[in-house]
Amino acid sequence: MTLNPIAPSEINDMVVGLNRLARNLWWTWDQEAQDLFQELSPRGWRNMFHNAVAILHEVSDYELRVRLQDAAMARRVQKILQSFDRYLEAPDTWAAAHAPQFATHPVAYFSAEFGFHETLPIAAGGLGMLAGDHTKAASDLGLGFVGVSLFYREGYFMQAINPDNWQTEYYTLLNPKNLPIEPVLNARGEPLIGHVGVATSQVAFQAWRVNVGRASVYLLDTNLPENEPHYRDLTLRVYGGDATTRVMQEIVLGVGGVRLLRALGITPSVFHLNEGHAAFLVLELIRERMAEGMTFEAALAATRQQCLFTTHTPVEAGHDRFSPDLMHFAMHRLFRQIKVHQADLLGLGRLDPANEREPFCMTVLALKTARAANGVSELHGQVSRRMWQPLFPDRTAAEVPIGHVTNGVHLLGWMKGTVRTFWKRKLGCDWERNVNTPEFWQRILDPQFVTDEELWALRYTLRRELVEFTRRRLLLQGERLGRSDFIAFDHLLNVDALTIGFARRFATYKRAPLVFQQLAHIVELVKDPTRPIQFIFAGKAHPRDDDGKRFIQQIIHLSRYSELQGHLVFIENYDMHIARQMVAGCDVWLNNPRRPLEASGTSGMKTAPHGGLNLSILDGWWREAYDGTNGFAIGEDSHPDSIEEQDRRDGENLAQVLNEEVIPCFFNRDANGIPRQWIHKIRRAMATVAPQYNTWRMVQQYVTRYYLPQPQTRPAPSTADPIPASP
Ligand SMILES: *Cc1c(COP(=O)(O)O)cnc(C)c1O
Repeated sequence: MTLNPIAPSEINDMVVGLNRLARNLWWTWDQEAQDLFQELSPRGWRNMFHNAVAILHEVSDYELRVRLQDAAMARRVQKILQSFDRYLEAPDTWAAAHAPQFATHPVAYFSAEFGFHETLPIAAGGLGMLAGDHTKAASDLGLGFVGVSLFYREGYFMQAINPDNWQTEYYTLLNPKNLPIEPVLNARGEPLIGHVGVATSQVAFQAWRVNVGRASVYLLDTNLPENEPHYRDLTLRVYGGDATTRVMQEIVLGVGGVRLLRALGITPSVFHLNEGHAAFLVLELIRERMAEGMTFEAALAATRQQCLFTTHTPVEAGHDRFSPDLMHFAMHRLFRQIKVHQADLLGLGRLDPANEREPFCMTVLALKTARAANGVSELHGQVSRRMWQPLFPDRTAAEVPIGHVTNGVHLLGWMKGTVRTFWKRKLGCDWERNVNTPEFWQRILDPQFVTDEELWALRYTLRRELVEFTRRRLLLQGERLGRSDFIAFDHLLNVDALTIGFARRFATYKRAPLVFQQLAHIVELVKDPTRPIQFIFAGKAHPRDDDGKRFIQQIIHLSRYSELQGHLVFIENYDMHIARQMVAGCDVWLNNPRRPLEASGTSGMKTAPHGGLNLSILDGWWREAYDGTNGFAIGEDSHPDSIEEQDRRDGENLAQVLNEEVIPCFFNRDANGIPRQWIHKIRRAMATVAPQYNTWRMVQQYVTRYYLPQPQTRPAPSTADPIPASP
């Protein structure tokens, strides 16, 4: 034990180190780092979306230095900074052994949204979460990787429910100085400025860098004084505005993104188009090559060799289509820079290139210009092959070159502190190292390693945390609406109740209110005092989706005015933080999309590592993961052609599974009060879902199947064979 004061130079190093740490999102998946920032200012942490950069502004430099004089605090900080540096410098990564070439020529991953953390709200939903989790895993694996997206100054909207139970939207301005992002500078230390042709103008953009462990993600931003006001606002909001804004955002993302990488001296070996939004990047790659003297055909072929496209939805509205007039208007300048007939360029986005009235579809552009394409689950691969078969008239649907890689989640980014502490106690400090492997999760099947009683206690702790979180949030919601019965919020929900969660975007195909289709039946279930059950809902509808808003209204109405009152709540303003609380605390994670429209889904993957069980339609990832022992299935591995029939049957099946399987299993307790069968299912869910449905497995598959040069690449446009289910 030394009582020496800590040297000023050591304090300096720590202050510098903490500032560097706050600007690298590595801290969002390191528990010790998060605990430290929280402790520096607990209220600030809670009120400012758990923002490490904001905490370092909230705590004065003087306070920080004084608190670092405390030897225990100093040791903790030094330990965190050491493990941060060890992470950044580790030479023995997976990619160093399996994909070293990307270190110099990285994978460039373009996505209109990235969900990294609640403090940087530039994602609308699952697509963004996937992009964020992909980046975190690429960093963990040591893969050479850069991301490209837009800096949305007003982010995605915040949701407030008005007294009519109708969703309203408001926006807050993000302040770059208070965010874990850094301006991208040129050699002279000034902001790097790039330009991209939009309509008849030359639009300027700057860029921000997000450090995500070892990976960098660049966010383009047109909010510069030299731009006309309407172009300054191009990057204002995630999917904001009308089709014109949308096509222009996509020009900035695709074309501007390539130009930014060039300006930074980054020469990617692969361009990964995450959804069609980024597909204009291929036009810039073609332009570059033609400027070097290639013919259009040669430039297209060379571009194709570098591009991979991932399609994410069979829902029609998920595929951007722009009218020929809009394309002529928005692409005016860019089309003139590519020395080829406009009809040839527009043809790249059409099923029938000769049809001048056919809208330009970003998915078609991506499919025609990528070396390979994939869907995000086995079923979605099948559906996509059928959907895009008309693009390949000489092939049957089965021969359409769209494979699949099933989505995953970044486990450490989603795992709640309570569960991390549990593993640390079991396995010691080094527990995180193998968290993505089957061997790690296999242990949970062993009752010697963890008893039923311990697992049940863990579930109770997590449910308690969720109930308390929900009470706090509902109290805040109630205050805003002027409710005065605050005591009531302390008694809201029941910690002993079977807690069923549903949270995601309120796109109508996800059918949020489906479980209430059999309302009388559900009311009967919740009225049984010996078997308490409760529902927690959250989610945002797109600002222009009135049908989705009606779903929200319907659910909140039921929570206030039906016999479900007290057994059903809606938490406002769904974000990653709410998601983390809910996937951890709910016993059952409900997922009832209209099959086969949920291409994969990922939220259910986040619940399994916490001991939550999925209750889901056999669509997307769950169709692959469900094995009869690790959760619950609604209906069969098939669906009728009629939507009305499907909705009716699924509603009935859902009520039946709840009634006959879920509820009896949860409340079937032995003499010691333990639900043995339920806990067996928890063990099976943890052991089967977590090691398979994570982004380490996913990114490794992208590397080996798609990013690495493929041995037999056939000529365009048919290059990738359908790929069998995950090994
Ligand atoms: C995981 C997640 C999603 C995706 O949920 P799905 O059920 O796959 O649609 C959307 N939003 C947030 C905040 C998430 O964390």
